Amino acid sequence: TDSIDSSTILTRELKPNQEFRFEVAPNTSITIRLTAGTAGTAELFGTELSKGLPYTFTCCKSAIYTWTGCSLSIEGSPSVEYIAEETPMTTYLNLHIALEKLRVAASDCPPTTEGAQGPRILLIGPPDVGKTTVAKILTGYSIRQGRKPMVINLDTGGEGVLSVPGTITAASFGSVMDVEDGFGNSPMSAPSAIPVKLPLVYYYGLETPEGGVRRYKRLISRMAVAVNSRLEEDIESKNTGLIIDTPSFDNQTNGDLISYIVAEFSITTIAILGSERLYNTMLKSFSASTNINVIKLPTSGGCVDRDVPYKKSLRDATVKKYFFGDDKCTLSPYTVSIELDSPGFSLWETVDSSSDKKNISFLPIGEDESSLQTGEDDVVRKLAPGDVDSRFENLVVAVLQVDAKDAGAKEVAESAVLGFLFVQEIDEKERRMKVLSPVPGRVPSKALLVGKWPDGMFLT
Ligand code: ADP
Repeated sequence: TDSIDSSTILTRELKPNQEFRFEVAPNTSITIRLTAGTAGTAELFGTELSKGLPYTFTCCKSAIYTWTGCSLSIEGSPSVEYIAEETPMTTYLNLHIALEKLRVAASDCPPTTEGAQGPRILLIGPPDVGKTTVAKILTGYSIRQGRKPMVINLDTGGEGVLSVPGTITAASFGSVMDVEDGFGNSPMSAPSAIPVKLPLVYYYGLETPEGGVRRYKRLISRMAVAVNSRLEEDIESKNTGLIIDTPSFDNQTNGDLISYIVAEFSITTIAILGSERLYNTMLKSFSASTNINVIKLPTSGGCVDRDVPYKKSLRDATVKKYFFGDDKCTLSPYTVSIELDSPGFSLWETVDSSSDKKNISFLPIGEDESSLQTGEDDVVRKLAPGDVDSRFENLVVAVLQVDAKDAGAKEVAESAVLGFLFVQEIDEKERRMKVLSPVPGRVPSKALLVGKWPDGMFLT
């Protein structure tokens, strides 16, 4: 029968300012409802739950907070669940209120003036301290306030925001976020449910900025220009400002990169989570900048370290979702074949300078390493058709906006992305590459860029 096994339904009564924390293992799922017919509201990382609606979660570590007290019913078996009394939510709300004041001031300025630009907040800190979660909460609160925040993800090593891992993305969030899915990167969301205009996507293709810091910086600069031009056409977004999530910055060596991001995006607030030392470094670095606030935010006790296999399964799930959709919206990708020797084929790879140490003895006569440092081919490298072999199987390939025929290293290194393919098989004998594509028909003659991240996976 379809009757629900009542033994697996839990009820949890939350008092005001408490939160229900839960973890769901990969390959299992649970459903949570804010009990209909009872008083009280609840929110998941800033986004309100509707009464009585079932929300389904899989492979996640999350929390539902209530300002008023509420009753939740939970179907299925979370691997961890408890009610927490102490949370930093009031501090996060106060930060939102402070940002909101600046947005009100920005909205009062004539659109073309500098003052019309809303607050631009950068969230930094070590791994697993709640940077992404605070970005979600601030985004959710500002949307509930009727604002249109531009959310930027610079963390290429995570599970990705609105795109596959390895990308940096920006999107203006215009309506309510998906409770189950937040930024649209959990395996449960339907692409159609994501409340954003087309996101801006650049494919970096490495896990950390350190592997290719020169190209990473250039993508940051390109992104900043693209974001600013979008904001010029959208005054509400401009007034709301930016919310920027970053890779883990936890030591002195990242100082240069942080300063670079702060300058490129004209950051007005730097919020540090989880590192007193980083906070103090930032205070000193920016003490002379009167227009930059440096603040410290508390980390939630609910933040959990995610181990390597868990992060890997999140990444794989995001890539899988890009091609196959999910329970709410199933997609059927197409298998497409690409001729390796056709004139329209141009495949590039991202260079990881931390592992692909150049072999000096192979350099052309007259070139030394320093001359290469200023070239482009140490950030992306064109592959000869003969170099395309099975090591590229099970990797993601970005279809860039630049045409295959006129793309040089500079254009490839800086180009935005049209979409992604997944390499299923390389047939060296038949000189063909079999890829999974979200759209039917031939792959357009655009430059293709293969990365090293997300790392190999099996999609089917
Ligand atoms: P960071 O961006 O700093 O790496 P995250 O915001 O992704 O950290 O948080 C790390 C993990 O902890 C995530 O899986 C997140 O969903 C979870 N998490 C964050 N806050 C809470 C909370 N209050 N209760 C339960 N889990 C939480």
